[in-house]
Amino acid sequence: MSFLAKLLFKNKTQNIVSGNMDSVLIKGDELKRAVDEVFGRSLFIRLVDSGSCNACENELAALSNPYYDLERFGIKFVASPKHADVLIVTGCLTRNMLGPLLKTYENIPAPKFVITAGDCPETGGPFKDSYSVCGPVSKYFNVAMHINGCPPEPETLISGFLKFMDILKTSS
Ligand code: SF4
Repeated sequence: MSFLAKLLFKNKTQNIVSGNMDSVLIKGDELKRAVDEVFGRSLFIRLVDSGSCNACENELAALSNPYYDLERFGIKFVASPKHADVLIVTGCLTRNMLGPLLKTYENIPAPKFVITAGDCPETGGPFKDSYSVCGPVSKYFNVAMHINGCPPEPETLISGFLKFMDILKTSS
């Protein structure tokens, strides 16, 4: 890499990191305190793609990368519903996915909560007129929190988790 390219890359990286990281850390600290208070140390999430274009999962996956590193704020994605506190649903909910989604929810121990992420679970998004869509997700589940966006960016997701924690705190 040339000297000029290195300099441009360095400046660009510094801008990105210093610009957004402050806000991520502030929200993250708040999130950690709320998770400690409500769940006691950690909040485990099981994610189900109910029929998405995969962009929403990419944004959720970005939360686990070294930049956002959501686990340091006490939130972790888990493979088994039996270990989860929260079910996050992405996608427009296809008829094929309704059964697996209900089964996953059934296997989460109570008390359990459903969060929908992205526009699709609520509106069907670009797939809403398809014969294979049986959403919205709120027709089958009590949705505690909906996070808008197509797709919602990682910081929007963190803000959504914060609002969800506020809802839990005020209702307890
Ligand atoms: S909300 Fe947008 S990004 Fe997310 S699954 Fe639907 S179409 Fe894809």
